[in-house]
Amino acid sequence: MQPKLSIAIAGAGPAGLAAALYLHRAGHRITIFERFENPAPVGSGLILQPTGLTVLDNLGLLGDIMALGSRIDRLHGTDARSGRTVLDVRYRALPGGRFGVAVHRAALFGVLYRAVLREGIAIETGVEIDSLDAGEAATLIDDKARGLGSFDLVIDASGTRSRLRRHADVPVEPHPLAYGAFWASLGWRGDGFDEHALLQRYDRARVMIGVLPIGRAEPGGERMAAFFWSLKPDDAARVQSEGLEDWKARVVGYWPQCAAYVDQIDSFDQLSLARYGHHTLPVPAGRRLAVIGDAAHSTSPQLGQGANMALLDAAALAHALKQNATIEDALAAYARTRRWHIRSFQTLSRVFTPFYQSDGWLLPFMRDSVVATTAKIPPSPRILAALVAGTIIDPLRRIGLSETDWHQATATPARPVATIAE
Ligand SMILES: Cc1cc2nc3c(=O)[nH]c(=O)nc-3n(C[C@H](O)[C@H](O)[C@H](O)COP(=O)(O)OP(=O)(O)OC[C@H]3O[C@@H](n4cnc5c(N)ncnc54)[C@H](O)[C@@H]3O)c2cc1C
Repeated sequence: MQPKLSIAIAGAGPAGLAAALYLHRAGHRITIFERFENPAPVGSGLILQPTGLTVLDNLGLLGDIMALGSRIDRLHGTDARSGRTVLDVRYRALPGGRFGVAVHRAALFGVLYRAVLREGIAIETGVEIDSLDAGEAATLIDDKARGLGSFDLVIDASGTRSRLRRHADVPVEPHPLAYGAFWASLGWRGDGFDEHALLQRYDRARVMIGVLPIGRAEPGGERMAAFFWSLKPDDAARVQSEGLEDWKARVVGYWPQCAAYVDQIDSFDQLSLARYGHHTLPVPAGRRLAVIGDAAHSTSPQLGQGANMALLDAAALAHALKQNATIEDALAAYARTRRWHIRSFQTLSRVFTPFYQSDGWLLPFMRDSVVATTAKIPPSPRILAALVAGTIIDPLRRIGLSETDWHQATATPARPVATIAE
């Protein structure tokens, strides 16, 4: 059991906010530093898997997030030319009534941020953290070379472009992936779409269009969908110069019902260009430093695990600090308990991404023929569902969590039902 520590957290994304809640509740003194003046999420939507949902449940926030998000029961992908189903993953192939919840990023951010404010956790905004001076204590240095505080521990939760990561024991930087995507949050249109599914259309692996129902960004808000179009960031300028109407015509050519979505787009400014990178820190820690979330490991969102990994990291770090007498031992335990889950999913993401985003014909051909056929033969449906759910390797038990009882959670969604072992 740690004495009460003074802890700085760089970054108010899902990882930083969840870590702040856990560690504040454990009695530590927390200060969050966030570069935005008004903390706000960037981007569109994401799927919370049973792993990330269990962490939110453990924080007492499952009811809040389920009230905003959209329950997801399956992921369905179709070859745009032939109309053949080439991906059909259903959570119900797994036992226990599991499901995903797709959310607007603002909804996830808002649920965590409101809890942080309610609990009176200190947050300093408009502070760009640049580096760390760690000795007997840790001092953060901002971009104006000011030293900030004296902390027992610094948590780097500053996302994929982290600057603190270079102070990890073995620093690694992301290498850019060829493909990214245009993303937009648009009003939900149900005609031809399933409000409980992520639907995708592919043309080989060069074209991927997706529509994900994400519920409401805030209580009482409009119901929304995340819409995405896969493309190489290097091609974005060319697509824009060809004009919005040309691009819309391509989308509708592949997927006529998407007219209801692209009709809501009047300018390329409504689309954010997401660039993806891939890296995994071999040891997500350094001297008086823990690295969590995208700062520690980033990848393409193809397997949809990033925010869930960030939440699991926060829970794992809090558990390690509770279980170990020194910071060094806690950091080693944190790295150990997350290692296999992170490495497995990072490897799987690296292997799977080119099947959906690449230039060649062989991988998408295999996806649409061999993989699509074998995916129907048991136990493949269950393995694929466990892959999507993030439970193919159990990440929960070793960080002191037991999975939420999904039947009970849906019966009484506002009640936290996960437990954390002492
Ligand atoms: C297009 C797209 C789709 C995705 N889809 C999914 C999905 O379906 N499911 C899923 O689980 N994940 C998905 N992800 C990944 C997911 O969004 C991330 O893994 C998750 O947001 C990581 O959380 P984080 O808190 O580690 O980092 P972030 O969310 O990036 O938060 C980092 C925070 O740190 C702040 N910050 C950055 N630098 C500094 C600095 N120098 N000083 C102070 N503050 C700083 C930032 O402003 C931000 O608030 C997707 C990602 C993208 C880009």
